[in-house]
Order: sequence, then C-alpha cells, then structure tokens
Amino acid sequence: MIQVDEAEKIILALAKDYGQELVPFEQALGRVLAEDLRTDRDLPPFNRVAMDGIAIRYEGFAQGHRTFTIKSTQAAGDAPAVLETATECIEIMTGAALPPSADTVIRYEDLEIQDGEATLLTEHVKQGQNVHEQGKDKKKYDVVAQANQVISPALLGIAAAVGATELPVKKLPKVVLISTGDELVPVHQPPLPHQIRQSNSYLVQAALQQYALQPDLLHLPDDLSVTRMHLAECLQQYDVIIMSGGISMGKFDYVPQALEELQVEKLFHKVKQRPGKPFWFGRHAGGTLVFALPGNPVSTFMCLHRYFLPWLEASLGISGKSGLFAALSQEVTFNPPLQYFLQVKISVNEKGQLLATPFAGNGSGDFSNLVEADAFLELPAEQNSFRAGEVYRVWPFKRLFY
Ligand code: AMP
Ligand code: MG
Repeated sequence: MIQVDEAEKIILALAKDYGQELVPFEQALGRVLAEDLRTDRDLPPFNRVAMDGIAIRYEGFAQGHRTFTIKSTQAAGDAPAVLETATECIEIMTGAALPPSADTVIRYEDLEIQDGEATLLTEHVKQGQNVHEQGKDKKKYDVVAQANQVISPALLGIAAAVGATELPVKKLPKVVLISTGDELVPVHQPPLPHQIRQSNSYLVQAALQQYALQPDLLHLPDDLSVTRMHLAECLQQYDVIIMSGGISMGKFDYVPQALEELQVEKLFHKVKQRPGKPFWFGRHAGGTLVFALPGNPVSTFMCLHRYFLPWLEASLGISGKSGLFAALSQEVTFNPPLQYFLQVKISVNEKGQLLATPFAGNGSGDFSNLVEADAFLELPAEQNSFRAGEVYRVWPFKRLFY
C-alpha cells in the first residue's frame, strides 16, 4: 500500500503528449489550444466609431465652429464617407469606420439636429474622442490567445473574430470506460430487488466531457476469461483504460489477475486513502495505461479527480484543477491512518479565501451527497484532527464561479 503523493508521482510521471490536430473552431470548446492564436489584422481593423452621433474634423471645432452641415449619413458596414471641409459633418453610427478625413465623434446626446445642421450643446470636445483607434487592442499578427489553455467561450469568440475557422488543438488520448459487476444492470432496464443500475460509466463520461473527451463504454461480468478477452482487445485499441470495480478482495474480483496475466505491469495496488483504497494502476508494454478504480461510485469519482484528471491535464499541458487550496471552516476529526477526502461545500470568505465547509452526508461512501457537495478536501494521513483555518488541497468537481 502506498501514500497518495507517491501514487500521484507515479501517475504524473506517465503524462504523455498525444500530439495535435486541427478541428473546426465551433467544435473546439473545452479542447486545449496547441499553438498561439494570432490576429489576421489589426483589432479594431479600422478607426471604429464608438458612439452614434456626428463625425467632424477637430480643426473646425478648434476654429470656433459649433454648427456643422450634415453632408451624409454613414451606417455601420458602409464604406467611409468623405468630409471635404471643417464645417461639415457626417451623421455616423457606432461600429462604422471613421472617414479618414474626420477625427472626432460627437454623440447625439451633445447635439441638436435641425434642418440638416448639427449644433453642439457642449464645449467639452477632445480631438479623437469616441473613436476606438485602429490596432489599439492588438496589432496584425499579435498573439490573441496563448497556447496551452482550455478553449473557453471567450477564446472561441476571438477565434471567430480573427477568422480562425480551424484551430490546432491537443489530441486527446483514446479512452475506454469499463464497468464490471454481475449485480449491475443497464440504466434503461428495471433492476430486480438485488440488482443495481450501472451508473459509474455515466458519472465518469460526464466528467470527461469537460475536456471534450468522448470515451467508449463497455461493461463486463465478473468472469475471468471474459474479462481477459475484452481487456486484451482494449489494450490494443486504447491509450487509456479506466475501469471501475472488481479490484478488491472479493472472490469474484478478477480485474488485477486478468491485467497481470495480460502483461500489464502493476505500478501500485492500494493507496492509503479513504475512499478509494483498492485503486490499482498499471501500464502495458504497448503504452496503454490502466486506471482500475474501485467500484463504489464515490471512490470512482474521487480517484478520477485526484489521479486521472490531473494526469490528463498534465498530458494536455494545462494545470487546471491541480494546485488549489482551501481553508477548513470548522474542526474535523478522522482517526484511521489514511488520507481522507472529505466532501465539502466551497465558498469565498470576506478575506477572499476559499473556504471548505464539511458536507460529509452519510460518510465517505454517500453517493447522493456528491450532488450537493462541491469538492473533496484532501486531509493528510499523518494527522487525526484538523482545525478551522488550516489550509489543504482541494479538488473541485463542480463549476464554482459560473
Ligand atoms: P466493487 O469495487 O466491484 O467491489 O464494487 C463496490 C461497490 O460499488 C458495490 O456495491 C458495487 O455494486 C458498486 N458498483 C461497482 N460498479 C458500479 C457501477 N458501475 N455503477 C454503480 N455502482 C457500482
Ligand atoms: Mg464488483
């Protein structure tokens, strides 16, 4: 049995870059940008009018003119009009390209318009006002988004703005989720009183969707030869196998045996933690990694967040959820010499600190409690009592801020 941080080290040492590929930008949400994204032109691409009103030459105002003859009207999207004298103006709308012969925009609120003339109601006019200058945000070919970040709605919008209709993204590993257990029935089938619904695959699949990773699903009975046969195939086809169940001391827990018979090198079996103690991890000579997680859904979920997702993030070159800390809001006692992953609610206190409030429900195995909890707080095995205000690593499994 090994410690949590040893298990983490072994797993993270096997993080792997799977290369990159181009995808249509509309499908890139949640993927990791593989190269810096640059603009194809200045941003804004022209001197952009920022208020509805009139465009003038400041020179006219400086010379004392307060009434300007409206020469024409220019909407957003119209080619720029031409201003010939400093006593003329163009009625112009937000988003329009400022004519090269004008330099200043006065908003409607500061004008009176009558009989084709615009008269100023203000003496406060600055040269260049209400114009968003060409290239002020970014110059042509500037980086607008750095590589190695998750493609967010904002990044997707910028990609659209700079015409990046295909984006280079990190390739995702090919993953299969294998649930095991004779007691499990498909979710669409009514279970007999002694059966339960197979839920782990959906739990894990949903968590992987945050990374736009779409795994294949497979269910296996508690049968050594069937398990061995399917695993042999999966070892050929996938980069990662995530299993749930069948790794404990039960008479029908065949997974470790099947894996070892297939030359999957066991890198550890059992971690000093609760939940999730029976966790088995290994690597096949062909490179496939096997995360064989305990079947208890809370254990599966915890191990996914504590081990698989950090491995995935390291493989994709992002640090996402690792390295977050929160302060405990009240005292907690936990006696067994195991790292305890306490279910908590997360809030932010008046000092701007992340605060973790225990929300343990019916103990570490309470599956339905995960719906209300926000995160696991990782309490070290070496301590039995944990005081309010002490800071520990936290593993969020919900969107916390939006
Ligand atoms: P195991 O690790 O196979 O001993 O399973 C531990 C517990 O988790 C048992 O109560 C199983 O019925 C339950 N379990 C295992 N796999 C799943 C699954 N895919 N969905 C829901 N519960 C499961
Ligand atoms: Mg089982």
